[in-house]
Amino acid sequence: MAPETIYLDHAATTATDPRVVEAMLPYFNTAYGNPSSIYRLGRAALEGVDEARETVASLLGAKRKEIVFTSGGSEADNLAIKGVAFAQRDAGKGNHIITSAIEHHAVLHAVEYLEHFGFEITILPVDSTGLVAVADLRAAIRPTTVLVSIMAANNEIGTIQPIAELGAVCREHNVLFHTDAVQLIGAQPINVKELNVDLLSLTAHKFYGPKGVGALYMRRGVPLLPLINGGSQERRLRAGTENVPGIVGLAKALQLAVDELPQSSNQLTSLRDRLISGIEAAIPHVYLNGHRSQRLPNNVNMSFDFIEGESMLLLLDQQGIYASSGSACTSGSLDPSHVLMALGLSAERAHGSLRMTLGRENTAEQIERVLALLPPIVERLRAVSPMYRHFLAEQTVY
Ligand SMILES: *Cc1c(COP(=O)(O)O)cnc(C)c1O
Repeated sequence: MAPETIYLDHAATTATDPRVVEAMLPYFNTAYGNPSSIYRLGRAALEGVDEARETVASLLGAKRKEIVFTSGGSEADNLAIKGVAFAQRDAGKGNHIITSAIEHHAVLHAVEYLEHFGFEITILPVDSTGLVAVADLRAAIRPTTVLVSIMAANNEIGTIQPIAELGAVCREHNVLFHTDAVQLIGAQPINVKELNVDLLSLTAHKFYGPKGVGALYMRRGVPLLPLINGGSQERRLRAGTENVPGIVGLAKALQLAVDELPQSSNQLTSLRDRLISGIEAAIPHVYLNGHRSQRLPNNVNMSFDFIEGESMLLLLDQQGIYASSGSACTSGSLDPSHVLMALGLSAERAHGSLRMTLGRENTAEQIERVLALLPPIVERLRAVSPMYRHFLAEQTVY
């Protein structure tokens, strides 16, 4: 019999909630019109989009006109960064952008791309827990700085940044501030005003919504050039026929995430802490990556010395447990995670990392099962590890 499946990779994606699917269904084959068409079928679709926009705006503490729907988190990040950078430079405001070393590649690679167009980049370091220092941001701002982009919570190590404080520094210096809040949705209440942000990215599939749809909050008055030109959808900021079912699903998923946040965050925190303390108690030479308390309620990331995270993944997979090592290594590249390296980990320790990100459907029994299976897996891998043998030889006292 195949073992029960335990999905512990919610930072990569989540299953779409059945209530979200239900809300989306009519927009596939009943209210399937083009929102730009003026007959009734089109208006029904437009209403779906309008209501979704209203819901998303009010849940974030924003106004309807401040929400742009996109194809996901990567597009929202790219639109925020490239859109603001080009608009600001056009207006003669400058060409300097600040970000952090642990951003998602959607931010880091967008910023690196802008270097080809004459932008100057400062990449702020983080401390060993993954935090950006407010003083470092303050010191990095120049008269030519047009944008700061720092993620709200890290997808690999779960560290939560002091976004409101970082945002306050940007306000002081009259610099626009973007945050990738993809991982923070459902983990903490989000209000764009309290966070002092000008732009904020999110994507539905990280909070039990469908894949391929996201949103960018952009404060009224923030200058932005579109990336996708064409029709006049999304107030000309993002052309293309709207992903109506996706947009409706995103709004429903966000509503559920906000409604269920207190309960879900308590439950996840207690499962997370049980998993961390259980591993620390049962397995020697393990290290928690990221911040111990300024941490997403669902994130466990630990390095196991002398073994490879990838090998652990394969053995866990055989037991029906789905986790991740560092970040989803889709390219199959052997480079250690840029996030773990930015914390100052050795390449060996970065390679020995295992990420388990919990979700709504995980139970205490599942966590106990993982805690029962993990120690023998680690032992088995260490038994065949030359690094471990070398370590044991050095420990021997004659
Ligand atoms: C998943 C993720 C993204 C990318 O979102 P997509 O919808 O997959 O494009 C961006 N930033 C962070 C922090 C993420 O976790």
